[in-house]
Amino acid sequence: MKMKIYNSLTRTKEDFIPREQGKVSMYTCGPTVYHYAHIGNLRSYIMEDILEKYLRFTGLDVTRVMNITDVGHLTSDGDAGDDKMLKGAKREHKTVMEIAKFYTDAFFSDCAKLNIKTPDVVQPATGCIDEFIKVISSLIEKGYAYEAGGNIYFDTSKLGQYYVFNDFKEEDLAVGVREGVEEDSNKRNKADFVLWFTKSKFDDQELKWDSPWGVGYPGWHIECSCISMKYLGEYLDIHCGGIDNAFPHHTNEIAQSESYIGHKWCNYWFHVHHLNTNSGKMSKSSGEFLTVSLLEEKGYDPLVYRFFCLLSHYRKSLVFSYENLDNAAVSYNKMISKIAALLGENGGEVDKEAYDRLMKNFTDALDNDLNTALAVTAVYDVLRDGTNAATKLALLREFDKVLSIGLIANAEKLKNASANAEEELPEEVKKLAEERKAARKEKNFALADELRDKITALGYIVEETRQGTKITKK
Ligand code: AMP
Ligand code: ZN
Repeated sequence: MKMKIYNSLTRTKEDFIPREQGKVSMYTCGPTVYHYAHIGNLRSYIMEDILEKYLRFTGLDVTRVMNITDVGHLTSDGDAGDDKMLKGAKREHKTVMEIAKFYTDAFFSDCAKLNIKTPDVVQPATGCIDEFIKVISSLIEKGYAYEAGGNIYFDTSKLGQYYVFNDFKEEDLAVGVREGVEEDSNKRNKADFVLWFTKSKFDDQELKWDSPWGVGYPGWHIECSCISMKYLGEYLDIHCGGIDNAFPHHTNEIAQSESYIGHKWCNYWFHVHHLNTNSGKMSKSSGEFLTVSLLEEKGYDPLVYRFFCLLSHYRKSLVFSYENLDNAAVSYNKMISKIAALLGENGGEVDKEAYDRLMKNFTDALDNDLNTALAVTAVYDVLRDGTNAATKLALLREFDKVLSIGLIANAEKLKNASANAEEELPEEVKKLAEERKAARKEKNFALADELRDKITALGYIVEETRQGTKITKK
């Protein structure tokens, strides 16, 4: 079975066929680095990471590019509100570039904790000003852009079809009619958007560049079109982002890219739906600001959060609660314990029949529009199967190239931790434990209980776990 993927552009599940055989060009909207990423942002990056890794897993040669938004993103996606970077800099009494550096590093540190691979190319927007100017100049020349009130706007009336992701009602999307968003009187059409600002509302805008239209800075949308085209050329196989980016950001990217190159730009659009809290949309400004560090402070392994995300389909919104995360943690820990037990078994040879059969469960799941929940079920299928440890471990190693939830690494850690804990037991306790093990084997539970009491009296706790008896100091 070929991989099928839901394409927001056609609103159908389609066979994924890259333009060039064996190669995939992939673009991802990167973070706006004015604050830490919240775990909702990171849900998008986790699912995009699974997509990239699965494409690689099927043998495709993927080149993935991501921007870093360090200029141009206002608090409203419709060119209104405050400049997010400037707001971050003021909040922390730092320069915009200091803020950008700090939060870019923080983003990649979170990604590393979540086993999210860094894309092949990561390009901050401030490094591509010449490209933006080149594309904007060409759009003006071709009649797709105009100057008004000092800014350069894209003229959406020049397009046959502007609203390409027509999942939505036009009236819900038109920026000008959105409640609370002030209308820019320079615009010829409500949906027009800024390509270059010179008349900034922000007198203290730090980052400005010379341009044919005066000193200013780029709008947000132009950066993704330009950075993608700079590294991946005029044809893009797949573009990713969170669902909130479909409009206006991706809609605007398509408008300006296709007007510039004169043909279709990107074949597949992959959108990850939101992580919400019980009280609604996740936010950096209201409610608890949920970050990876916060989860760590509360004692969660970041990979448990990754596992939690995998249990739901990327095209469904997901509700975060600590209760849901705790449930995921229980399942995760059980799974890792089972794998730790496998590591101790005398493996044998890989059984090809079992390997292929169990591998098919995994690939069938991911081939079907990246069904990660079923891919996790495929892990359980392996653990439950009657085949030998060598086959199981070989499969789990392969699965984890995509799932990246530390299936083997965390199981090894657990196994070593248990072995170390055992080594540290005093000889007397070890001897009693051996006698108790023998008593239990002979079903002499009275004696086993007596021996347990003796161990407890020496200051140790005896617990029965799925991996066997665990003895730890009180
Ligand atoms: P930003 O840093 O605001 O540019 O957003 C980074 C990425 O996170 C974008 O792809 C957004 O679409 C995505 N995103 C924003 N909020 C959420 C959320 N609550 N759940 C999932 N993805 C989100
Ligand atoms: Zn983008």
